Amino acid sequence: MSAACSTVKMSDKNGDLSFIGQTATQWHDAPKETITYVPKSETIMLVGGLTILQDKLIESALASIGENFVALPNPNFESFQTGKAFGNRGQCNPTYFTVGNLVNYLQKLRDEQGLSEKEIVSKYVFLTAGGCGPCRFGMYITEYKKALRDAGFDGFRITSFEHDKGIFQGDDEMEQILNLSPKFFVTLVKAIIIGDIINLLGYKMRPYEVKTGSVDKAMESCRLLISKAFEEKRNLTKTLWNCRKILANVKLNRLQPKAKVLVMGEFWAAMTEGDGNYNLHRFLESEGAECIPQPVMNRLMLSIWEAERKLLKKETLEVETDKKVDFSTVKSRVLIKLAKVAVKTHFGIYAKAIGLHDYEIPNMEKLAALSEEYYTLDCEGGEGHLEVAHLIESVKDNLSHLTISVKPFGCMPSSAVSDGVQSLVTNRFPSANFLSVETSGEGAANFYSRVQMALFKAKQSAKEEFEALTIPEEIPQKVHNYLYQPHNAKAGSAAKLVESLGV
Ligand code: SF4
Repeated sequence: MSAACSTVKMSDKNGDLSFIGQTATQWHDAPKETITYVPKSETIMLVGGLTILQDKLIESALASIGENFVALPNPNFESFQTGKAFGNRGQCNPTYFTVGNLVNYLQKLRDEQGLSEKEIVSKYVFLTAGGCGPCRFGMYITEYKKALRDAGFDGFRITSFEHDKGIFQGDDEMEQILNLSPKFFVTLVKAIIIGDIINLLGYKMRPYEVKTGSVDKAMESCRLLISKAFEEKRNLTKTLWNCRKILANVKLNRLQPKAKVLVMGEFWAAMTEGDGNYNLHRFLESEGAECIPQPVMNRLMLSIWEAERKLLKKETLEVETDKKVDFSTVKSRVLIKLAKVAVKTHFGIYAKAIGLHDYEIPNMEKLAALSEEYYTLDCEGGEGHLEVAHLIESVKDNLSHLTISVKPFGCMPSSAVSDGVQSLVTNRFPSANFLSVETSGEGAANFYSRVQMALFKAKQSAKEEFEALTIPEEIPQKVHNYLYQPHNAKAGSAAKLVESLGV
């Protein structure tokens, strides 16, 4: 990070610089003192912010290609309080939780491991998502830097994947620290996809476990096997196949009519597993529900879809204006195609290997078509049109008994835009059981009581759906095996299983 400021002259719209008689300097968020950072080979990258399992897998995966990454612990309420103490007012929850978690980690390095603040600043870098979307997301990095400075870590480096650049990154500063090779991206995406698959299986199995904690234990055993496979560069598909045995050993009772709840909303709030959303998924499970979580892959697919849409517009404009098609657009198109194929292929192979049969990668074209009538597809920020699309899809395809949209308090794209549109959607689809809930870090009691009220209706629906079916006198043992995943029009998992027996 350079402390130097370039001098930029202000000009009027004709380019005349002299009328103002003054110069403006480009503002840089530079540290007060010059800092000598350690060479790249000694730099430690901190990552965090995805699910607990994914952060750990990323750590092992990137270690396998010689990158020195360390996963931060899961942010908790203490992180939120630290984030609030050092951050500006009026930020979104994810900022407070993320930066507070980082500050707590750095303070532990200082207080428990005896590293000086100077050493920490020169050696560590935090990798996060950034962007200049039309919401507070664009301010995250500046906010992080402010909080870190006030906490005593002035000059601490933060580098980001720009969400609005989709798969096209390439920031100079980032390239100096990170090895942005195709290998890096492929390894990262593999870890994310595998994490998504195991998480999805966990959510399918946990509500039906006979012994409390057995699914989590099996998932952790799978995680350790996969981390080892990454580190020792062993075949991942074969390792996932070996995980089948671990998962199949978990005893399940799957004939319990549980309310199926689709959890979606703002990316971080819907995905995080902890105090950031009041442990929403675990709370739902403890109340007798089965969750359909939002895999990180959905956000990845949205970024690819947005990049493709922008490119199509550019190409259309070039044709309309008789401009020669730019070579860079051809290159971008190839890259987008490759990215799509890579994500779909890896997901397909890995899911098949471990035994996730009934989950499909979101069909972005279908989701866009479902929501187009309600939500302008060019409106980016947050999850764009996806929240509206998910609700419509859930009702039309009977995917769940309840759809919860969770978002940080005052989230611009989610609370202010999507939820406004959702009232029209629920009006047109009266059978939709939809709940929008905000998280503020405080006010858990109100949050839980609203979720419980919506869940009551969902549980009734699940029970009625199940009881309307004829249960066979003899239940084949395969029903309780996680690998048996029939596909039919019922929403509840137990109802799906009974329906598949065809009595
Ligand atoms: S999407 Fe919502 S929560 Fe996320 S940064 Fe934007 S306004 Fe904040």
